[in-house]
Amino acid sequence: MQETLKQLETEAIAKVEAASSLKEVNDIRVQYLGKKGPITEVLRGMGKLSAEERPKMGALANEVREQIANAIAEKNEQLEAEEVKKKLASQTIDVTLPASPIKMGARHPLTIVVEDIEDLFIGMGYTVEEGPEVETDYYNFEALNLPKEHPARDMQDSFYITEDTLMRTQTSPVQARTLEKYKGQGPVKIICPGKVYRRDSDDATHSHQFMQIEGLVVDHNISMSDLKGTLETVARKMFGEDRDIRLRPSFFPFTEPSVEVDVSCFKCGGKGCSVCKGTGWIEILGAGMVHPNVLKMSGFDPDTYQGFAFGMGVERIAMLKYGIDDIRHFYTNDMRFTKQFKQD
Ligand SMILES: [Zn+2]
Repeated sequence: MQETLKQLETEAIAKVEAASSLKEVNDIRVQYLGKKGPITEVLRGMGKLSAEERPKMGALANEVREQIANAIAEKNEQLEAEEVKKKLASQTIDVTLPASPIKMGARHPLTIVVEDIEDLFIGMGYTVEEGPEVETDYYNFEALNLPKEHPARDMQDSFYITEDTLMRTQTSPVQARTLEKYKGQGPVKIICPGKVYRRDSDDATHSHQFMQIEGLVVDHNISMSDLKGTLETVARKMFGEDRDIRLRPSFFPFTEPSVEVDVSCFKCGGKGCSVCKGTGWIEILGAGMVHPNVLKMSGFDPDTYQGFAFGMGVERIAMLKYGIDDIRHFYTNDMRFTKQFKQD
């Protein structure tokens, strides 16, 4: 019996050493150490042994098992290490390969226009103010000299959420809110860019959502000529250094007097073309001196403070500047459109 066990040990270890895969080693383990293996078989025959020999044989059998198990563990370790090495060798990384280029996005044309205007005004000492897009009727209309039942409210078809809240129809409520914060003490110099909403049917020149950027200055001794000088600076920044502007009388409830502002055509220089519809001038924004009622409602004394305000549609500026013929391009997220505004 002793002989048989020793022989099994030698045989098994030799097989383990010759094995070349983890599967092969596992098969050997099952074959020799399994419940139906030869060692178990030998141990079953122990009943025939004398009481003296039995423990010796048991100990020997355990030793043989251990030896085989050790050989298997060692072989497994060796094979696993080899496998890792093989894997590493087959998956070497070629560090000399050039990297694939990173795709850079483009700024949206509306963002470009807003940021250009912001840069210009920040340089002139203005701050940028923002406010909620869901606004109360008070800030959107009343504080801007548009009491309930005022006919001019019809100029702006609104998305009402409740009787007293609506999607703001203009960025002017930000002016009213900011003026309140200053508690009657100037100077105030702000611009307010943001999205506004009106109940319009979408077509090439109308969108129910669009962007405005407004400016407001309130201080002592502010006059129309300050307004004109500021607007000239904006027009030249957006449309070229040799642009002129002209002011035409108009009406807005929150300014008095109010003006529409035209810029001399950047395409034909004033001779007349399709962009300016033959007039040599292009309307770009509305402006005026802040209405005394608006100053009063926001806590400023209209006898000592004056102000001017202006507002423009960002889409209109972008359409003129980039020759875009349909406002819907700004909102349909077509990559072929936005990619054209990539800057290096
Ligand atoms: Zn023209």
